[in-house]
Amino acid sequence: MANILVTGGAGYIGSHTCLELLNAGHEVIVFDNLSNGSGESLRRVEKLANNSLDFVQGDIRCQDELDRVFQNYQIDAVIHFAGLKAVGESQQIPLTYFDHNIAGSIQLFKSMQKAGVFSLVFSSSATVYGELNPSPYQEDMPLSLPNNNYGYTKLVIEQMLEKMALADARWSIALLRYFNPVGAHKSGQIGEDPRGIPNNLMPYVTQVAIGRREKLSIFGHDYPTKDGTCERDFIHVVDLAKAHVLALSNRLNNQGCRAWNIGTGAPISVLQIKETFEKVNGVQIPTEFAERRSGDLPAFYADASRAKNELGWQPQYTLEDMLADSWNWQKHNPNGFS
Ligand code: NAD
Ligand code: UDP
Repeated sequence: MANILVTGGAGYIGSHTCLELLNAGHEVIVFDNLSNGSGESLRRVEKLANNSLDFVQGDIRCQDELDRVFQNYQIDAVIHFAGLKAVGESQQIPLTYFDHNIAGSIQLFKSMQKAGVFSLVFSSSATVYGELNPSPYQEDMPLSLPNNNYGYTKLVIEQMLEKMALADARWSIALLRYFNPVGAHKSGQIGEDPRGIPNNLMPYVTQVAIGRREKLSIFGHDYPTKDGTCERDFIHVVDLAKAHVLALSNRLNNQGCRAWNIGTGAPISVLQIKETFEKVNGVQIPTEFAERRSGDLPAFYADASRAKNELGWQPQYTLEDMLADSWNWQKHNPNGFS
């Protein structure tokens, strides 16, 4: 069992991963500035795990704060979630995104190196495949420039990590390329709690269902897909969290930098999400068709065979589980953690 530093652990994917880490017997130290995360989510994680974790409030852009954590704890490995993630916002304020995501990551890697900690799991994204690759995406496809600044930061960090691992064989790095994380822990105690108007489909759907938003706008219905709406590869957040625990054990026993897709491999359309949500949960989602959203690709989904073969990871949850669990979380927490 190991001592794991989890940056961004108070956020959506981070909190679910902390729970899985505790359940697997690891010690967890969360480092988060709470800009988009919540202390309450960590309290609930502790209750669910019946175990405690340590929380340090701090910003990954601050070298001193990071160095202090590595001095105060004997860290074995890092899972790095912290960063900003809103695609639209990244187009408005690129420098802020470069600062949090790229500069913040560099500070973290420097502190790790100084402390002699070289095992890392990094939250990457399918966005690094860019617009030129056909689905299903495979890890060894040449990456291409994403069409937004958020995606660009993920590509830059991946490339830095590859170069660091080439230059110094002590590094052992997992690049987990997430597809579309949705769902929540079965208990309904932790889940996604976006601030302001949600950018992503799933929290928008659940907020319409609970009456916080009037209706769902489906962006585009003339795409070359089975029903004209975009297709994505939705993955249950608990399956995603479990992939981190497996990637971590893999990295604690290997060297180099390796990428894994974390998706189900099944393309699901936006319309299918709305219709299945209504059927599974017995709730209507008032909907309109709207213009295409700039930058959206018609369809993307994973070839997830590498994660299965090398990490022994396979998704356990169905689409129905994802939609039932998203609703269960929203229903029990109409205003999120607040
Ligand atoms: P989230 O916003 O819920 O979690 C991110 C956490 O990082 C938050 O708790 C926030 O307070 C913290 N944070 C942000 N900037 C920080 C900083 N400078 N210093 C310290 N803490 C900081 O997001 P999430 O959905 O849980 O995503 C986690 C990671 O996964 C992110 O890196 C994101 O880019 C990546 N990712 C997310 C998705 C998705 O659809 N949710 C898809 C692909 C990749
Ligand atoms: N989408 C939508 N209405 C919304 C939010 C999203 O139709 O209010 C669509 C979006 O156009 C995309 C899909 O849902 O085709 C998934 O979008 P999301 O932002 O959740 O994730 P992305 O795939 O862009 O990372």
